Amino acid sequence: MIEELIDRAAAEDDSAIEELTVIADSDPEKLAPYLGSLLDRDVLWPGKLYRAADADVVRRVVERIDGGGTPDRLNHLLIILAHTAHPLAESAMRRWSTHPPAGADKLYVGVLDYAREGGWTVGPDGRRRDLCGGTAYLWMMREAPRRADGGTCPWCTSPLWIAAELDTADPAVGAALAHTGWSGRLVIETCHFCACYATLYSQVTPAGTTAWWAGNTRPDYLGSLEAEDPPSLTPIPGAVRHSPYQASAWDRGGSTMGGRPDWIQDAEHPDCPGCGQPMDYVGLIGGADLDEYGEGAYYLHLHQPCGFAAVNYQQS
Ligand SMILES: [Zn+2]
Ligand SMILES: [Zn+2]
Repeated sequence: MIEELIDRAAAEDDSAIEELTVIADSDPEKLAPYLGSLLDRDVLWPGKLYRAADADVVRRVVERIDGGGTPDRLNHLLIILAHTAHPLAESAMRRWSTHPPAGADKLYVGVLDYAREGGWTVGPDGRRRDLCGGTAYLWMMREAPRRADGGTCPWCTSPLWIAAELDTADPAVGAALAHTGWSGRLVIETCHFCACYATLYSQVTPAGTTAWWAGNTRPDYLGSLEAEDPPSLTPIPGAVRHSPYQASAWDRGGSTMGGRPDWIQDAEHPDCPGCGQPMDYVGLIGGADLDEYGEGAYYLHLHQPCGFAAVNYQQS
């Protein structure tokens, strides 16, 4: 069945690629024995198909980049390597960051910045850091009456929206946030409207306090704005997901705490205002779960050492 999908994918059948993507999200290991043949057939997109690539496949991708024969495919090949997060991929990407491969002059970001597509980064200390967790839970929406003492957005005066109210005392929350190092309560408050136009940062503490960050920069093109009511919903953790890759930014029921983000556009792990390093990923709330006609997705982030949370938004 997978062989047949690969045949169709090689003939640029979008529905076959979609089916392979569903397998890559729900059970990536299932594709592992077939990734060599996928590479042979030059099916390089989407890169997440290669999540479970073994050393052999990773080595072949690295050799193809080093060979320099297809510099126009460098972008796709680097995204594949980022998704594998394999040590061989990491060491090649480190090497190329100082000795760029053929085609690197056409890239929009540095070779090592591609790591973020796979949810990891190399810190200033030279050590690798995973930005995402290995365990994911369904996020279910529940009605949340607005707090009488709630703040308003300094830009548009809308009441702020509690995008998440978490406590690591809940074992599910503790597991989903383990990679962040957070311990205690975590309230992530944002403006549901302005977050669609700029990454909004807040300062948070394990006591559950949250405050709008004074350094948030309003985009010039946001003119005068009218207040809008935020969603009346806030997420609560549900069942554990079968794999950490099952968030969906598109489908109803796709909202997910922990695991890996389903980016609609390129990966966008925001940089922490405190230290400049990419923040850890917390979860995704799909527009489809907030509103019948909702679209796009809100992505939640945290940097525990600096006490910053962030919310950004993507749509197609
Ligand atoms: Zn606002
Ligand atoms: Zn920081």
